[in-house]
This record gives sequence, structure tokens and C-alpha cells, in this order.
Amino acid sequence: MVYFRMASTFSPQELSLFRSIIEEIVYSDDGLIQETEAISLATSMEPRMKVSDSEELIQHLIQDKWLLQHGGKERQLSLSAVTASELSLYLEEVYEDCISKCFLCKIITFKGHRCTKCKVRVHRKCCRKFWMHQNTTSVTCPDPVCGEHWPHVELDLPQKR
Ligand SMILES: [Zn+2]
Ligand SMILES: [Zn+2]
Repeated sequence: MVYFRMASTFSPQELSLFRSIIEEIVYSDDGLIQETEAISLATSMEPRMKVSDSEELIQHLIQDKWLLQHGGKERQLSLSAVTASELSLYLEEVYEDCISKCFLCKIITFKGHRCTKCKVRVHRKCCRKFWMHQNTTSVTCPDPVCGEHWPHVELDLPQKR
């Protein structure tokens, strides 16, 4: 569905650049791609795309909230939550083996917390919500079968009185 929406906005070449960007993001560890790297993907396209065109496309994708831009010295891009949920069928079909879903809400997650023992991944937001309702201060894997301690996760919960 989204694909139709995108197809009316973007040219086939632009769509295929966007697909390459998605691919880089999916295969990255943290769900991010350097903006400069995304722009330079244009040069490996067939037929080649002008760098100025890819710059323009990426600005457009950011403006329309397909991509999120993260500040800092080196700007980075990630897929927005909207993109992840709207393109989830496409992503699941194409990247079946490397897509992870949040253990709690079952929506695709690229970042978030991961368990050091099992395959569980959760969105930061879902994790916080989940543990807010648990009567404990130590965080463990939300999968009861695993229950591994997550000392790497700090929840920043409001203090109980
Ligand atoms: Zn979630
Ligand atoms: Zn686990």
C-alpha cells in the first residue's frame, strides 16, 4: 500500500536508492546509517545517480518523515517508526532473517535493548513501560523462560515511596 503512495511521489530510481538505504540500515548493528554514506550510495546505483539528486531525495525523505535525522558531528539517519510499521510487510518479506521484532509489542525494532543471552529485543519505550509495572528494581529479560539479568539497561524509573 505504502509502496503505491511512494511510487506516486518518487521515481523508480529514487525508490531503488531508498531501498538501498533501508538495506544498509537493516544490516547495521544500531539501525543507523551515516548521512554521507547514504548520499554516496547514489554512485553505486545502476544507472548512476547524481550525488546532488541523492542529497535532494534524502532531504525529501527526512522532510516527509520516512527517515529520521540525528544530529551530532556526523549526521546519521534511521528509519522512522512510521516507516517501520508501514513498510513492515515489505521488510519482513525481504529481510526475514535479520529483522527483529520487539518481544513486547511485536513491532519491528532496529535499536532498543537486546538480551545478552537469548534473542529477545525490545524497544526502549516498551521496556520502560513494562518494567514500570513490575515490583522490582532489577531489570531482567522480559522473556520469563530466559530471565537473564540486564545490568546494561538502566530504566530511569520514578522513585517508589
Ligand atoms: Zn515494542
Ligand atoms: Zn533473554
